[in-house]
Amino acid sequence: MSLLVVGSMAFDAIETPFGKTDKIIGGAATFISLAAANFVNDIRLVAVVGGDFPKPFVRNLETKGVQTEGLQIKEDEKSFFWSGRYHMDMNTRDTLVTELNVLGDFDPIIPDSYQGVEFVMLGNLSPQVQQQVIERLDERPRLIVMDTMNFWMDVAREELDKTIAMVDVLTINDEEARQLSGEYSLVKAAKKIFTMGPKYLIIKKGEHGALLFHGDQVFFAPALPLEVVFDPTGAGDTFAGGFIGYLAQTRDISFDNMKRAIIFGSAMASFCVEKFGTERLVELTKAEIEERVQQFIDLVQFDISLVEG
Ligand code: AMP
Repeated sequence: MSLLVVGSMAFDAIETPFGKTDKIIGGAATFISLAAANFVNDIRLVAVVGGDFPKPFVRNLETKGVQTEGLQIKEDEKSFFWSGRYHMDMNTRDTLVTELNVLGDFDPIIPDSYQGVEFVMLGNLSPQVQQQVIERLDERPRLIVMDTMNFWMDVAREELDKTIAMVDVLTINDEEARQLSGEYSLVKAAKKIFTMGPKYLIIKKGEHGALLFHGDQVFFAPALPLEVVFDPTGAGDTFAGGFIGYLAQTRDISFDNMKRAIIFGSAMASFCVEKFGTERLVELTKAEIEERVQQFIDLVQFDISLVEG
């Protein structure tokens, strides 16, 4: 059960109605790796950071089983920087700043030791880079999952479409599904996105849960109603990390197992939002994850008997 993760590693500055951070560690690959490390001990990271990125954090990822041979450190350059402000509902946000820095000319290197990987998670970053990663693999992995965001739909639509055509599962939020498909109905959006290539579509709806589409089948997973939502940044990536981490651990890519994987992804995301940035994820224990998954089971389980006639 090996998993290749590519995505941004970043500094984020976040404003929520409850507080504000200076530059803290973020990035799609960061959240994905931290989440997936709870399920898989062979994670192969492909990313780029500047000399400003804290080396102890990289060492910490390594202690969690993340291999960093494919992590490029450009000592004289700056890491990707993103800043966002959340609205009062904590579900929607505005991007204030996107400074690509080292991501601007990122040429992903796939070390020989990464070849033969079974699962691939293409975290949010330029679709050209996501595509290069697929093309540079000697063999087609068992499953390729891709995440993206509205930013790339705005600035690189053609490349994005090409990359989407190459993946098995696409994960996006509801607003992005509408933008990508031009359809308001998420069911129609899913049908349209299937014509673009992917066989599975996950639509994330923030505090309103997530939908998994495959052919005519649909599965819904709620988000856990939480007393405290502090910072939703990275929730989507953490969800993706939990989802693919569970699939890689169980090595079962059936629709039924994807339903379970969605619950694990949702459980992981529920931790992410409890503190700023990666704070909650770095301290997480397996017992806490199990307890949280049980809360999901309790949340949606009910007995019902339909009376006929
Ligand atoms: P999420 O909240 O799951 O959508 O992910 C937020 C993370 O994505 C932040 O930590 C950002 O650093 C990162 N991010 C934001 N914009 C981009 C972008 N255009 N490309 C890659 N990563 C990004």
